[in-house]
Amino acid sequence: MTIKQNSVVTIHYELKNTEGEVLDSSKGQDPLVYLHGANNIIVGLEEQLEGKQVGDELTAHIAPEKGYGMPVEALIQEVPKEAFGAEVDKVEVGMRFQAETEQGPVPVVVTAVENDTVTVDGNHPLAGQDLHFEVSVTEVRDASAEEVEHGHVHGPGGHQH
Ligand code: ZN
Repeated sequence: MTIKQNSVVTIHYELKNTEGEVLDSSKGQDPLVYLHGANNIIVGLEEQLEGKQVGDELTAHIAPEKGYGMPVEALIQEVPKEAFGAEVDKVEVGMRFQAETEQGPVPVVVTAVENDTVTVDGNHPLAGQDLHFEVSVTEVRDASAEEVEHGHVHGPGGHQH
């Protein structure tokens, strides 16, 4: 069975940046299970998994355009320290939290702490990066009608509901 639209695909993967640093890996953990063609994973990886089957191993080099996109300036904001209230003393570079915005909560990371302001970045941590995946396909099955309707996988590795 080959990977196509509405396949439920199980993969093990390792993700490195251009410097060869491991950013993410499923090694020693449960594999990733996703619904193919439903934007569950980045488009560049989906494209390269199309047509593969169980036992296939591949190396995928993915540019930002087909990965997490390029960083957007508008998502980098200086926030007055007052906005953090009593918590302000705990704010430090590298801290992650959910920022309340007009579009709902957005995960941000603190990139600078100045005298009066804190700079937060709402871009995906991997935006602008070339991604290098080593992937092995361990399972492929057809999705159920309900999974296709929901746009995600049910059961082990998927949504439990
Ligand atoms: Zn569901």
